[in-house]
Amino acid sequence: MTAKIRLYVDHPLGLGQSVPVSREQAHYLFGVMRLGVGAAIKVFNGQDGEWRATVVETAKRGGVLEITDQTAAQKNPPDVWLVFAPVKKARTDFIVEKAVEMGVSRLLPVQTEYTNSGRIQRERLQAHAVEAAEQCGSHFVPQVSEMVRMDRLLTDWETKRSIMFCDESLAGSSPELPSGGKSWAIFIGPEGGFSPRERQRLQTFDVAHAVSLGPRILRADTAAVAALTLWQSRLGDW
Ligand code: SAH
Repeated sequence: MTAKIRLYVDHPLGLGQSVPVSREQAHYLFGVMRLGVGAAIKVFNGQDGEWRATVVETAKRGGVLEITDQTAAQKNPPDVWLVFAPVKKARTDFIVEKAVEMGVSRLLPVQTEYTNSGRIQRERLQAHAVEAAEQCGSHFVPQVSEMVRMDRLLTDWETKRSIMFCDESLAGSSPELPSGGKSWAIFIGPEGGFSPRERQRLQTFDVAHAVSLGPRILRADTAAVAALTLWQSRLGDW
């Protein structure tokens, strides 16, 4: 039987391993997808690669899978963070989902001076990241961090991580990305853009490179996808 369903599990994976099915997963697998004992799915946990698993027990609120064989070795995305200012709910969901599909190692919501939303539902966003990883065939689920303030983030910045600072004031110049550096972070501002103070501060960072995303001003969600496309095609694993 072909294993089309991919499921993220928070459990060690290895040959012959039994993996408990959570209540939500049981609802999805046995309720929605109507899988029964003997059905095969694929599972991953973010670190042990991808494995084939067989359903050995089903219940309304749980069940058990047994790991049969490995279908792929673990593969992680390049070390690129997406630092983004949360926008409206649906657009923030979009940013998280698309970033996982494009390949990022971490998602870091940041509160900038002009950030419209002062709060995020971290767990909801993390669940979106899991779903996106399940759907796009990734073996890795980037962590969605708690929201941090931009000034705090910059004060604590690790000096080896390069910054691709997407600066809307450069719209119109050609997108140029320096080569080199293994660890990166892409910065995307809120709808109101970066404040003059934030722009100035970023410019004082040796590791920061201000980059244009073309002649038009993009919305933050579009900008995140465009920036990741640019980065991945020049420096990433595409
Ligand atoms: N209100 C601002 C636009 C903000 S767009 C203005 O009118 O100028 C939201 C974010 O997307 C920006 O902070 C920037 O990080 C990114 N962005 C959008 N278009 C861009 C472009 N052409 N070049 C570089 N960054 C861009």
